[in-house]
Formats: sequence, structure tokens, C-alpha cells
Amino acid sequence: MNNKILTTISGSLPKPSWLAETEKLWSPWLLQGEKLEKGKKDAIKIAVENQINSGLSIIGDGEQTRQHFVTTFIEHLSGVDFKNKKTVRIRNRYDASVPVVVGDVKRIKSVFVEDAKYLRSLTNLPIKYTLPGPMTMVDTLYDDYYKSRSRLAEKFSEILNQEAKELVEAGVDYIQFDEPAFNVFFDEVKDWGVKILEKSANNLKAKTIVHICYGYGIEANIKWKNSLGNEWRQYEHVFPLLAKSKIDQISLECQNSKVPLELIELLKGKKILVGAIDVSTKKIETPEQVANILRSACKYAEPKNILGCTNCGLVTLPQEIANAKMNALALGTKILNKELGLN
Ligand code: ZN
Repeated sequence: MNNKILTTISGSLPKPSWLAETEKLWSPWLLQGEKLEKGKKDAIKIAVENQINSGLSIIGDGEQTRQHFVTTFIEHLSGVDFKNKKTVRIRNRYDASVPVVVGDVKRIKSVFVEDAKYLRSLTNLPIKYTLPGPMTMVDTLYDDYYKSRSRLAEKFSEILNQEAKELVEAGVDYIQFDEPAFNVFFDEVKDWGVKILEKSANNLKAKTIVHICYGYGIEANIKWKNSLGNEWRQYEHVFPLLAKSKIDQISLECQNSKVPLELIELLKGKKILVGAIDVSTKKIETPEQVANILRSACKYAEPKNILGCTNCGLVTLPQEIANAKMNALALGTKILNKELGLN
């Protein structure tokens, strides 16, 4: 049995400069039409090569075909008006102009399945695909139709489950749902958030993951983090519920964060993707720093239940820095594997 600690990134990677403006969140495409489609494929190929060359074990598409981790998915659904946007407060933190739900939301056709097939064709290593979580989707829209966050989330969970099933059929081994909203709306997480997340992940022949972070290093998030005090205990609300859920793996933020690592104990029985790379700084972690975080995590969970990961997406960093950080993640994990006699 190979119990080696594996490595993966949480999701996004920098885009090449010819595809979109770099070091920027949500930057618009620089190509159009067929050139854009070809450009996205080339970008996936580069993202895959960079992960493999860095020595990671589970490979993603680097989210090269999406501008935004939520709205790009929603763009493919009917019932949402992207022309007449409205301003809402997102994650209780910052205002953004967002699309409006104006009718029954439906998936007209698959969203990422062709990209997933292409990703599958590029590597024999296990592959992972990320999707937005239903609560985070609801929190990134203005709802003028369902008038109920849980009802809209429920609709999204059906759509996500259909999409995820097709991704698995295309050869995806890990399906990850991104739910940063779980770190904010604790009552909703308890009332319906975890239940509806489980519906999204229902009956998938793949490992399922939920990624819960403190967000990208944008100003609103940095301000929010600074207001959270010396110990970030948000996970304490969510982990006991997730421990009882059917979700297999939980991805969390640890490097340079004020999350007390003992909270990992609340996730008994689950696999934990330990964020060992800070995505909000260009400073490259040393392999030893990565090994230190993973070693500390191993005090609260068995090494066989640990994976090395990034805190969040790497999209806002220069490509060379993202590559160096991925390499540090792989090398640091290797140090610990050696120490623990895992090969
Ligand atoms: Zn994240």
C-alpha cells in the first residue's frame, strides 16, 4: 500500500500573458473566437506541464478556461441575466456587480467536460476538477426569482451534480467544490449548507473535496483577515458538520494563517488538504517551511490522511513564482515522506 503524502494545488494557476492580463483576478480574455478556444487549450497544456515538472501528484487544469471561479460556470446556465447586473455585498465583505437570477436556472449543456477530456488526455496522473460550491454561487448573484438562498442553492446542487457526473465519466478522479462562503455564514452552513453540498456530490465515482479558504489576497480579504483577531476559529463551526458528512476531503488554509492547527482534529476520518503555500505573497516558501506545516498537521491527523496543498489559487502570481511555489510544495512534502519512511 502506498501511503505517501500526495500533493496538489487548490485550483487556479497564472494565465499566460497572451491569454489574459497577468497577476490579476478576473482579468478579461485577450483573444476572441477560435483563437480564444485554441489559446485556452494551450494554456491548459502549459498548466499541466508546470504542475508535472514541479513534481505534484494530482493535476488540475489550473482553471485556465475560466475568468471567474463562480460566474464562468453560471454563464453557461439559463435563467441568469448577465446584461443588467446588480450590486450586492459578497461574503459580507465587499460590493460587486453581479448577474441576476431572473428565471428557472438550468444547465443547457455541459460546462467543463470538453476541458476535462483534454486534461485527461495530457497526463496519466490522477486529475482533479474544481467547481463552485452551491452556497458560494448563491452568494455571488442577485436572486430576483427564487427569493430563497437555500432553494436557489438546491437548484444549483442538482446542476452541479449533473456536471460532476459528466466530469467523472470524462476520467476525473477528484471533484472539488469551492465553498469560501462556509467561512462566513455559519447558521446557513448548519441549516442547509452541508446538506446541499452533499447533494452536489451525491453518487460520484470520484473522491470529493470541499475547499474552504480565507480568499485570495485582495484588499477586502486582507482587511477582513486583520479583523479576525489572533486566532481564526471559523473552521470550528464548520468542521464538526463536515466530519459527519459524505464529503471525503477538506481543503484548508494553514500557511501564514492564524488558524489553530488543532482544529484539524475535528475532521477525524477525513483526508485533509493542508494549505502549505501562501498565495497572497510573492515570497517563495522553502521546502523546510512546507515540511514544517505538514509535520505540525500530522500531530492532529494521521499522515495517511494528509495531503500537501496551496492555501488557495495561485492565479494572481507571476508564473515563475507559482512554479517555484509548487516545486517547494513537492520538495517539502518529499522531506516529510522521507522522514516518515513513506515511499
Ligand atoms: Zn480559495
